[in-house]
Amino acid sequence: MNQVDYLRISLIDRCNFRCQYCMPEGAELDYLLKQELLTDEELLTLIQEVFIPVGFTRFRLTGGEPLLRPSVVDLVGKIASLPATQDLSMTTNGFLLAPMAQSLHNAGLRRINISLDSLEADTFDQIIGNGGRSRWQDVWNGIQAAYRVGFDPLKLNVVVIPGVNDHEILNLAALSIDKQWHVRFIEFMPIGNSELFGDLGWVASAELRQQISDCWGLTASQIRGAGPADVFQIPGAKGTLGFISQMSECFCDRCNRMRLSADGWLRPCLLNENGQIDLKTALRHGINTTQLREQVRQLLAIKPEINFKERDSGTTAAYTRTMSQIGG
Ligand code: SAM
Ligand code: SF4
Repeated sequence: MNQVDYLRISLIDRCNFRCQYCMPEGAELDYLLKQELLTDEELLTLIQEVFIPVGFTRFRLTGGEPLLRPSVVDLVGKIASLPATQDLSMTTNGFLLAPMAQSLHNAGLRRINISLDSLEADTFDQIIGNGGRSRWQDVWNGIQAAYRVGFDPLKLNVVVIPGVNDHEILNLAALSIDKQWHVRFIEFMPIGNSELFGDLGWVASAELRQQISDCWGLTASQIRGAGPADVFQIPGAKGTLGFISQMSECFCDRCNRMRLSADGWLRPCLLNENGQIDLKTALRHGINTTQLREQVRQLLAIKPEINFKERDSGTTAAYTRTMSQIGG
């Protein structure tokens, strides 16, 4: 059985983007009220007194957009300095990153994933649903700042949407050639905006690999991550190319993670709401952390049965929360 030691922590459900693939078009999302979010103190208590004692040692801060949480740098510092923390990383859309990159690094963050779905400002703005000023340059500045201050590995996440950004695969893959940047192509999932998914469908990683291989050749990389990506390299490139193929390939059997939402729900599987525990309400009702540890241990024990195992037909599942709400 896989050791489940990796927790993705959503710091906030809000976001300053409205990516087409992540949020339902038009509809207003019911954002959490401030008092519904786990406080910093509650989050740190859960990490130290519940998650670490049951075996979690690797944490990723995500959202929504994690950089919108005012205390993010402070939280990074506190989590990074826990002796049991073996790995701390973040997934961000990069919009606010440029001025924060150095403080995040100083606070102890070393690994960062930045979403970059397009190199064309117009396409990018269309994807992120921005009505006003273009935001591409801010994100690009964020990536450059992260590179300058020394985040390593620096990963760039691309969700591939047919007819929207799939003509840019080679240009995006080329970012891995001259710099040690790791570009990861993610198959579009029917979570968040299933209407768009129904209209456009998704592109299988195998097709992308073929395209890239026809252009430059592609070899399996020696550098393997601990996550679900299959990692390759353009011969001679400094960085790598990862393919996250949750639609075309089932990797539920090697799942090593759980997710904690910004309002304190511990979720054992991204694609399945069974088994969730409301840790925030428990804490606020005075349930002690010894009892919470026991509940999490029990959840860990049944996780293999909860894991979603029908990926090939997964397009029909009904997901009630978006990735930004779950903490993607
Ligand atoms: N706001 C941050 C960002 O965009 O990087 C962090 C949160 S976002 C929910 C985390 C990841 O989920 C991003 O890489 C995003 O591209 C991915 N994501 C969101 N909706 C998706 C979908 N329907 N299919 C595949 N990936 C999705
Ligand atoms: Fe926001 Fe990230 Fe979702 Fe885009 S993918 S809307 S940046 S949470």
